[in-house]
Amino acid sequence: MTDCIFCKIIKGEINASLIYEDEEVIAFNDIRPIAPVHFLIVPKQHVVSLAECSPSEQRLLGKILLLAPQLASELGLKGFRTMINTGREGGQEVFHLHVHVFGGGEALPKT
Ligand code: AMP
Ligand code: ZN
Repeated sequence: MTDCIFCKIIKGEINASLIYEDEEVIAFNDIRPIAPVHFLIVPKQHVVSLAECSPSEQRLLGKILLLAPQLASELGLKGFRTMINTGREGGQEVFHLHVHVFGGGEALPKT
């Protein structure tokens, strides 16, 4: 996807504050954090959203979810919230699947 901002970060065409990378997944700090720690876990494969995932993405989705507590712990979080905005009506702005992980301040309010 040539004009996808997250694909550009993955290709190194746009800088991001990386916190994790392997052959399938990248994680970087959100540019507009809503908590003291706020990062995004993103598959390198361009998948539009959770709604476009199929059983072939099951292992990758599991890997991304398991990375959330690992990276949160490495960043010193004792607790965190995950969020996956899906579709325009779900508040999604960047149409490349990503999991928000945030925390680190006061206890987060109930949704
Ligand atoms: P969403 O509403 O779930 O699509 O969230 C997209 C998120 O990507 C927002 O929280 C943005 O602040 C974040 N974002 C957009 N562009 C960048 C960027 N270049 N680097 C880091 N985070 C970004
Ligand atoms: Zn993309």
